[in-house]
Amino acid sequence: MIKPFENKVWLATPTMHGDELTYMKEAYETNWMSTIGANINEVERLTCEYVGCKYAVGLSAGTAALHLAVKLAGVKPGDKVFCSDMTFAATVNPVVFEGGVPVFIDSEKDTWNMDPNALEKAFSLYPDVKTVVMVHLYGTPAKIDAIRAICDKYSATLIEDAAESMGATYKGKQTGSFGNYNVISFNGNKIITGSSGGMLLTDDEAAAQKVRKWSTQSREAAPWYQHEEMGYNYRMSNVIAGVVRGQYPYLDEHIARKKAIYQRYKDGFKDLPVTMNPYIENEMEPNFWLSCLLVDKDAMSKQTRTATEATFEKEAGKSCPTEILEKLAAYNAEGRPIWKPMHMQPIYKDNGFVSCFDTPACEDIFERGLCLPSDITMAEEEQDIVIELIKSCFV
Ligand SMILES: *Cc1c(COP(=O)(O)O)cnc(C)c1O
Repeated sequence: MIKPFENKVWLATPTMHGDELTYMKEAYETNWMSTIGANINEVERLTCEYVGCKYAVGLSAGTAALHLAVKLAGVKPGDKVFCSDMTFAATVNPVVFEGGVPVFIDSEKDTWNMDPNALEKAFSLYPDVKTVVMVHLYGTPAKIDAIRAICDKYSATLIEDAAESMGATYKGKQTGSFGNYNVISFNGNKIITGSSGGMLLTDDEAAAQKVRKWSTQSREAAPWYQHEEMGYNYRMSNVIAGVVRGQYPYLDEHIARKKAIYQRYKDGFKDLPVTMNPYIENEMEPNFWLSCLLVDKDAMSKQTRTATEATFEKEAGKSCPTEILEKLAAYNAEGRPIWKPMHMQPIYKDNGFVSCFDTPACEDIFERGLCLPSDITMAEEEQDIVIELIKSCFV
């Protein structure tokens, strides 16, 4: 008999190492308890060095960075913007902050990210679009070369949401270095964290300067508070930056541990009718932020979802995300459905959606997929129990 976990097994929680406290304390002791200071300077420098971009601007959140990226792209009220469909809402909401209208692009099946074919089709349907916002979901790089080439062909600005993919590479190059304006996040559940925080990355010096200005209330050079542009209070705190600074040396270790978790699941499920979230082995190296599972079509039991609830019918030898998630929850382990596609969200139900498949890939992955406990602190013995629990769903 398997007993419920005494300590909850989480999806993804912060993993601290001690250095974080040193840098936070340094901010306190030197009284740089503000949005200026050595920690901010250092994490901006570390990020440029790690990602390989020229400029990094520390901000209060990834969402703030996405907002300023959309402003930099020049999105105006009524402008349509192509956005990844299967993502977290924070990828696309900032388009709407500026009055833009997201048009959602379906995923391909090799990485679950924006389908270049659907993007090409979207440009033929909406030739005036000038901005694309795409995500590297769950830490798996998208087919970014193809997406970049299409953006170049149509002279569109590319915004890369690398909030979940820090440290992942495509053909040896870091995600967050392909777009014109790119975003990383240090939210509490990400691969490294500041408890909150984010950054805008770019090679464009003028753009970086604008972001520094906009994020600190757009003050002009004058003896008084002088304003010519809309401003925001979006700058990163030097205390938060201290946490991020302390996490940086452990980024590669976090990725290695996430990869080991992914591999252990993959081995554990080899006799089950499921697959893991896919990536293209010789082209990309994910950061393995979340391990996900996809139930084979012919092994899916009947599952019904309303706007806010899910039910399933037990069938011998079959299972479904709802059954697996309920089982995990009953044993004090945290799983989560796949991020519900934006075109299925009530708030975006009237927006455009472009797919190259009869059944959109995003709808299918949402139906058959789920996120598994992927916490760095999960012990191997705990993960083995999670695997056994999932196996028991297919009996
Ligand atoms: C977390 C996340 C964001 C937002 O980052 P915050 O720092 O939490 O504002 C944006 N996009 C994706 C895909 C994310 O996972």
